Amino acid sequence: MAFCNACGATIEPGAKFCPKCGGAVPAAAASTDNSDEAARNLGIDVYPGARARKGSAASVTMGSMHTVAADFETDDPPERVADFYKKRLPHANIAVSDEKQYTIISHDKKNMFTINIEPQEGKTLIHIANVSGNAVAGGESTD
Ligand SMILES: [Zn+2]
Repeated sequence: MAFCNACGATIEPGAKFCPKCGGAVPAAAASTDNSDEAARNLGIDVYPGARARKGSAASVTMGSMHTVAADFETDDPPERVADFYKKRLPHANIAVSDEKQYTIISHDKKNMFTINIEPQEGKTLIHIANVSGNAVAGGESTD
């Protein structure tokens, strides 16, 4: 459920203007940018409030491997973004560089998530990729 930023009235999904005060509704709710679609296909939560970078999304199939990737950015520091994904991926391998660049890699039977978090011009850039397919598990999967 969305609410008007100006007057707090409830906004119907897909509405472009507030029914009460006529204020414009932020585009996020009605966006059709392909980054949003990629976010849904990533199979993992996007960091709360992170904005999809336009044109960053990719969806590639090569043989039995399917890759979905998208870039997001947030004003929160890299540590907080890393903490968010550490909680969601408790078994992930996490590497941190001196420049506070985080690389988080986690995989289960059919998916491998790679999340890169890096500070960039006062913001934090989040690159998420999900590679899925039997080859991810090294051919061990038998189902
Ligand atoms: Zn309003």
